Amino acid sequence: MEIWLKAHENKNLFTMHRVERFLYRAKSKYQDLAVVDSPQFGRMLLLDGVIQTTIRDEPAYHEMIAHVPLFAHPGPKKVLIIGGGDGGTLREVLRHPEVEKVHLVEIDEQVIEASRRYLPELAVGFDDARVEVHIADGIKHVQGAVDCYDVVIVDSCDPLGPAVGLFNYEFYRNVRGALRKDGILVAQIESPFFNMDLVKQVYGSFTKLFPIVRPYLASIPSYSPGLWSFMLASKKHDPRTPKRKPHEDWKLRYYTAELHSAAFVLPAYYSQAIAEEAEVADQAG
Ligand code: SAM
Repeated sequence: MEIWLKAHENKNLFTMHRVERFLYRAKSKYQDLAVVDSPQFGRMLLLDGVIQTTIRDEPAYHEMIAHVPLFAHPGPKKVLIIGGGDGGTLREVLRHPEVEKVHLVEIDEQVIEASRRYLPELAVGFDDARVEVHIADGIKHVQGAVDCYDVVIVDSCDPLGPAVGLFNYEFYRNVRGALRKDGILVAQIESPFFNMDLVKQVYGSFTKLFPIVRPYLASIPSYSPGLWSFMLASKKHDPRTPKRKPHEDWKLRYYTAELHSAAFVLPAYYSQAIAEEAEVADQAG
């Protein structure tokens, strides 16, 4: 008998994945968690029926959300990850020898526990001496934080439940305060193909707060429709030129120095949408 999992993309779209094994199912205070094995993408973590990460294509997401801001910064010592309870982003951040301290603020302890147990390839960094894990709301963590971090990475899920506030102007304003004077913020902002309104909203907020704002892209096949977007804001450094290169022995699967710069090249529909947003902001004064 074949078993199929219906993964939620948005209210109009579900994707179907053949499943070989259901490994874990739990309901935390915040969400429904599931871990399954699928022949197409390997092991998958789902929250509220939405795919968060899969073993097959997780390097694309985690390498791009971590290495683009970290290589854009000339010397990132202190990094904050908000969300990211699966550990994939943390694993990539810890590859950088310049990084002395990482705070990971995840609201749901059960995501970390499930990842440690079922996704050990991702959850390798939690016991690193440079890491402090806070089980807390990332929105509260940055309230009142001043001049603390070189890079802040918002590795959130979709803007639902406790993650809604991670897409708000007020939150980004607090992140700006938490960043040092040449700090960099990056946030995952969903698919530009399906969620252009959200992309524009985040772009509008970032441009009110930061002098340099650059969206960039990655191809992540398990996130329908495959093209994924990140928004980067920088207080000083142009993020398009990497300041260092990854070591060969990191054996990265997606990120390269060439791809770093290329990822900032946008399709016409994306550039047009953010140009429209910039015009609206200009007119509003
Ligand atoms: N790579 C994933 C994606 O784009 O679908 C997201 C990875 S990670 C699993 C997202 C994490 O953000 C979840 O574990 C969730 O519990 C956490 N999260 C949601 N809202 C949060 C908040 N307000 N503060 C801290 N963590 C939050």
